[in-house]
Amino acid sequence: EGERKEAPAIGIDLGTTYSCVAVWNHSRVEIIPNEQGNRTTPSTVAFLDAERLVGDGAKNQIAMNPANTIFDAKSEPTAAAIAYSLANKSDITRKMNVLVFDLGGGTFDVSLLTIEGGTFKVEAVAGDTHLGGEDFDNCMVNHCVKVFKRRSNKDLTGNLKALGRLRVACEKAKRILSSTTETSIDIDFLHEGIDFSLKFTRAKFEELNMDLFNKCIQIVETCLNDAKIEKSNVDEIILVGGSTRIPKVQSLLQELFDSKELCKSVNPDEAVAYGAAVMAANLSGE
Ligand code: AMP
Repeated sequence: EGERKEAPAIGIDLGTTYSCVAVWNHSRVEIIPNEQGNRTTPSTVAFLDAERLVGDGAKNQIAMNPANTIFDAKSEPTAAAIAYSLANKSDITRKMNVLVFDLGGGTFDVSLLTIEGGTFKVEAVAGDTHLGGEDFDNCMVNHCVKVFKRRSNKDLTGNLKALGRLRVACEKAKRILSSTTETSIDIDFLHEGIDFSLKFTRAKFEELNMDLFNKCIQIVETCLNDAKIEKSNVDEIILVGGSTRIPKVQSLLQELFDSKELCKSVNPDEAVAYGAAVMAANLSGE
């Protein structure tokens, strides 16, 4: 018993795009950095002739080696883990309706939970196992391919290396567009020696992805219907997953809930590992 108490509990989030590990130690949660000192590690593995790369090393060479690199392989993050950390923190005298909106790299999950007296119940879940950040990247890539075709009359869809470079650049631009309203994509010698440069606005990004964003909102409505809970009775809306940083996703969700504040206090990339560590600590009797 005594020995078990001393062993720290570990929570692992194997995300679609990033993974994160947290440890419950000395009565608090700490995120464990990887060898490079980063708090999240790309969920990427590459197989080279003589070696195997994991994490950042593997991610950095996706563009050069897409065929032998495994990425986007799994996000099914568990809302239960989040609920667990909430149940531990929340006011235990009051019943709360909590919506967890989890939009990651490859999957989308919505859960409606009720938390009462330190325990939680899953009232309904909805989602789409093929909807997430990579789809937003793809919309951007397809747009770039069209622009390239229009300008040079060349189709680069057969050029895997060019597509890989475009995908990396688009993902980066997408992140930038979450905090600024305009950026550019610049790639030298993209295809047949032709450079590519394109100004990308947040408005264009939103236009390209609006159908997907609306789909997310419809899925939230489905979840509320299934749980038979009025949206005005939702006490907390928790954002999880890297793609919830997209301003349009946030504003559409906020609009649906009549301007209710969204809970972004947990770093979305770390939330699942955080909750899992609290859960593991409870299971191990800490
Ligand atoms: P996750 O699976 O939860 O790790 O989410 C990763 C996804 O979030 C990837 O598709 C990222 O491109 C996306 N992402 C991370 N940060 C941002 C950001 N600042 N803006 C938009 N998308 C982001």
